[in-house]
Amino acid sequence: AQAAALAASSGPGRTADGVPVALLVNVGAARDLTAAAAADSEGVGLLRTEFLYLDRAEEPTVEEQRRSYAEVFAAFAGRKVVVRTLDAGADKPLAFVDHGDEPNPALGVRGLRLARRHRRMLDDQLTAIAAAREESTADVWVMAPMVSTPTEAADFARAARAHGLPVAGTMVEVPAAALRADAVLAACDFVSIGTNDLGQYTFAADRMAGELADLLDPWQPALLELVRITGAAGAAVGKPVGVCGEAASDPLLALVLVGLGVTSLSMAPAALPAVRLALAAHTAADCAALARLALTAPDAARAREEVAAAAKQM
Ligand code: PEP
Ligand code: MG
Repeated sequence: AQAAALAASSGPGRTADGVPVALLVNVGAARDLTAAAAADSEGVGLLRTEFLYLDRAEEPTVEEQRRSYAEVFAAFAGRKVVVRTLDAGADKPLAFVDHGDEPNPALGVRGLRLARRHRRMLDDQLTAIAAAREESTADVWVMAPMVSTPTEAADFARAARAHGLPVAGTMVEVPAAALRADAVLAACDFVSIGTNDLGQYTFAADRMAGELADLLDPWQPALLELVRITGAAGAAVGKPVGVCGEAASDPLLALVLVGLGVTSLSMAPAALPAVRLALAAHTAADCAALARLALTAPDAARAREEVAAAAKQM
């Protein structure tokens, strides 16, 4: 029992019956790096690279970017690092890019869509990531934000491979990508669900609008249905399906996500221990049962209540 308790409090994430669930950290700034690297995780599930581009007058050079990525890869030597390419636009405008006059920036040219206009920026970023990867032992994956179609996913994966980056995936943040998760996964190596944006676009609710918090609640069954579709698509072909939005850091919701077919969870380092413990206390079958309960609830609050009550009995 002591060994089981110890296993539950450290090391790789596992359900009570031993199904592995990779526990990873989100990193969004150079100053987060030390704490993130010290945390007991299998690596970085989401490196938000915006920190290199925001709050500056000029675009970072390839060499400057390479140095920053090298620092992250060195801190996570031997572990996985999933680098998300630039997610600018919308609430994150760049000083050195003309974003035009967008009446609805969240529905405009943001994330991977920016590469339609500024292809060289994506190419430079991939060049810098590939150069840093060459000199490191980190297992470097890349993924694109705001992907809407399998064609966009394929285009990104092709670009990544052309730069010598062998593992390329896409974020599922737009309902269209979840609905076509099978085709998106056929076009790339893995997906990672960004529940923050996926909630915003599923509920037509601005993620900054505090007044709409009930609609943006990651327990919303309609959002979970999109996770289910994506998880099932991943399971069918044996490709990884991660979650890197806030949803992953709620221990009870983490169980539901695993029950929906999610294979890795990426979160703030402080959230890791509670999620690891929750997983260790529940079997994969428990997780599947909790997921079924959540999916059929009429709203987020009820989903949470019903799952909490059922988990207590397990
Ligand atoms: C998300 O949308 O859930 C996500 C992880 O990306 P970000 O929060 O950086 O938009
Ligand atoms: Mg997002």
